[in-house]
Amino acid sequence: MSAVSATDTDFLTTVRDIAERVAAPNADMVDREARFPVETVQALREARALSALVPVELGGDGVPFETVAAACFELGRRCGASAMVFAMHQIQVACIVRHVGGEPWLADYLRRVANEQRLIASVTSEVGTGGDMGRSIAALTEAGEGRLSFEKQAPTVSYGAHADDLLVTLRRGPEAEPGDQVLVLAQRDQTTLRQNGTWDPLGMRGTCSPGYLVSATLPAEQALSTPFPRIAAETMVPVSHILWSHLWLGIATDAFDRAREFVRAAAKRNPGEPPPAALRLSQLLSELGLLRAEVRAGLTDFLEMSAEPGRPRLSTMTAAVRFNSLKIAASEQAPRICQAALGVCGIVGFKNDTPFSVGRHLRDTMSASLMIANERIHQTNAGLLLIAKEV
Ligand SMILES: Cc1cc2nc3c(=O)[nH]c(=O)nc-3n(C[C@H](O)[C@H](O)[C@H](O)COP(=O)(O)OP(=O)(O)OC[C@H]3O[C@@H](n4cnc5c(N)ncnc54)[C@H](O)[C@@H]3O)c2cc1C
Repeated sequence: MSAVSATDTDFLTTVRDIAERVAAPNADMVDREARFPVETVQALREARALSALVPVELGGDGVPFETVAAACFELGRRCGASAMVFAMHQIQVACIVRHVGGEPWLADYLRRVANEQRLIASVTSEVGTGGDMGRSIAALTEAGEGRLSFEKQAPTVSYGAHADDLLVTLRRGPEAEPGDQVLVLAQRDQTTLRQNGTWDPLGMRGTCSPGYLVSATLPAEQALSTPFPRIAAETMVPVSHILWSHLWLGIATDAFDRAREFVRAAAKRNPGEPPPAALRLSQLLSELGLLRAEVRAGLTDFLEMSAEPGRPRLSTMTAAVRFNSLKIAASEQAPRICQAALGVCGIVGFKNDTPFSVGRHLRDTMSASLMIANERIHQTNAGLLLIAKEV
């Protein structure tokens, strides 16, 4: 990871403090009650962390991307759901910041994100296309007087009931092909959310992600002029996979730490006799090291590709395969590590109320392979591997 400046260190110190002081003590309750981590998000708002990626000239703090990724890791260590909410919001901000172009409304919107610490949710998945982000069924339609409207059946909208705004993928118009998509920023006061069903999942319970029928009418300027396929390739896909993988690494790291505490406690009880689980802990460390290395390498590659003028490499098949592979590897390795930590701790890891509990960690990381199904990503990669010149 690149060197961080004093401001970056301050930002990371602040988020780490919020993670330890606010997210950690509420994590079990957030999980048990499947409730939004309201205290943590409020603390992040007060620290102006929701506009971390907004450039200074637009009123934000201009925190480097790698520091925001490190913040996802820190939050993930203490509360997976809080980290996922933070990461998903930062993904939406990154899409706007990196593709704001010369659009005055969007620049002004980013100022509002900074001033009001607005929380942005994501509406890419759709009933009928599932996790295929590159196709939409719902379309923008003319609503007269320079306004547009849409209605989208969204199967999963994390923190939809708590968001100030939503970033939505749609077909450009009623006649457009499924892949001819635009990204639209819908403000909450322009939007109606009709909840479909409940939210009582296995893990990531605090993300509060039921389905909604999302409908809105809004001025045409709220549709980003950069075509969505470009936003997806240069920003949404790689940034999602990098920030998600950082928080999954955070969860897995805490599971490892709990396993290590368990082994140390066992060693103290029987000095001079290494506990049998110590060997499994050593094996677990090497598994964690693999995850850590892949997550860091993915970040480094993205920073390098982003630093090039016009970011041409991010739109290549090589880049698509690279960041898809990061997602698959991290989403499979994180729950594996949590399960191995459970194997180290045994019954006190299985129980939900001990210092060595890792059930929440395991359940939270089990969502990773579903967030855009790994099978779907494998199929994309399989096709690209046949034609990409290098990977
Ligand atoms: C905790 C959490 C929060 C989320 N929050 C949001 C959010 O805020 N906004 C949002 O837009 N989305 C969100 N999602 C993502 C969204 O819910 C799912 O990605 C999307 O609904 C896909 O649903 P699905 O699992 O039915 O997958 P689908 O992609 O529809 O796939 C259905 C099944 O088919 C399989 N499959 C699909 N394609 C292939 C293939 N090519 N080959 C073989 N098998 C295949 C899959 O493995 C899966 O078993 C979230 C997901 C999770 C887990």
